[in-house]
Amino acid sequence: MAGLLPVDEALARVLAGAQPLPEEWIAVGDCDGRVLTRDLVAGRSQPPDDVSSMDGYAVRAADLPGSLRVIGESAAGRGFAGSVSVGEAVRIFTGAPVPAGADAVVMQEDVGREGDRVVVTGGARPGKFIRRRGLDFTEGLTGLSAGTLMNPRRLALAAAMNHATVPVHRRPRVAILSTGDELVEPGTAPGPGQIVSSNALALAAVVRRAGGEPTLLGISPDRLDETLARVRLARSQGHDVLVTSGGASVGEYDLMQQVIATEGATLGFWKIAMRPGKPLMMADLGPMRLLGLPGNPVASFVCAILFLRPLLLRLAGRGDSADEAEEAVLGADVPANDLRADHLRATLAVRDGRLVATPFPVQDSSMIRVLAEAEALILRPPHAPAAMAGSPCRIIRLDS
Ligand code: AMP
Ligand code: MG
Repeated sequence: MAGLLPVDEALARVLAGAQPLPEEWIAVGDCDGRVLTRDLVAGRSQPPDDVSSMDGYAVRAADLPGSLRVIGESAAGRGFAGSVSVGEAVRIFTGAPVPAGADAVVMQEDVGREGDRVVVTGGARPGKFIRRRGLDFTEGLTGLSAGTLMNPRRLALAAAMNHATVPVHRRPRVAILSTGDELVEPGTAPGPGQIVSSNALALAAVVRRAGGEPTLLGISPDRLDETLARVRLARSQGHDVLVTSGGASVGEYDLMQQVIATEGATLGFWKIAMRPGKPLMMADLGPMRLLGLPGNPVASFVCAILFLRPLLLRLAGRGDSADEAEEAVLGADVPANDLRADHLRATLAVRDGRLVATPFPVQDSSMIRVLAEAEALILRPPHAPAAMAGSPCRIIRLDS
């Protein structure tokens, strides 16, 4: 089988020239999973004043121990306007500004209150129970840098720094097309010889998890005019990526080749040294990259994990968060591999502190049920020798 393209090489071709998409400004509350295009600088200091970290009394440390006159109250958002002089204290609550003159807070649990006086038996060092202005961040500080992948915690920081909108890479817009005369949508009664199309929905879910916006273009019969119409629709809608599934047999490849040639581009068609999922198509239709995955459900899914997901992560600015293979040990013996990189569907468990990947005994690439139960792919390089249960292996998680 000469002329098989190694998986790495295929991935390099799929990623070639792909750059993070342009910037857009979105509401800070919507930025989870997005990547910042610019540094975010604090527009204010937090806390904005010296504040109390306890409910208690603001005092002058030098007055302690002693009996102090309570001259007012400082609550969060409503500070005490006056100042604390010798022998005085101010009732204070967590997060409230420490009044002028006071330099420590005593906890309410540590004092006795008698009318307008408070008796403190212990001492306190200056600064006790006071959070200094700017402890968390100071105005002008770069709290989050360009390239940061936002998550709920970083979103909180952006909001606290007073950003209502944030600049992020645009999400990849991904059109998804199923091809095949035999396919019907889920919920339809299939006619003789027809099967229910499942690939497009799975691909859309993978796209969403990788930070993209999927659009389902339905099912195209294996006809030039129908396929061409849908490819043109995807182009006119301004998608960044068009993913097709099916249409990878030689006759259908001829069809795709005609479609792409009619659109003025060149179709790359490669047989990849991998199992499942040998054929892969790629073409650039202006700014839209077409990725043609095999129709076989497991092959289409594995190709989506190995090629589509990294492409989308790159476009979303998450280029280097692409799937990292992890170390595990085999939970069952595996035979020697041939010249195609194999991707064994497997379950994961932790035993004696080690991650154990156990391949399913049946690896037929048409079995969606086995794929559904799988948690990882065991990576078997070309020509890997037979390996026994307990020996090291590398895996990719399917749901990262
Ligand atoms: P193809 O690559 O078009 O030759 O398809 C290979 C196999 O995958 C055939 O058995 C198809 O029926 C099946 N297949 C193709 N497209 C889909 C799809 N969207 N959903 C589920 N199975 C599919
Ligand atoms: Mg087909």
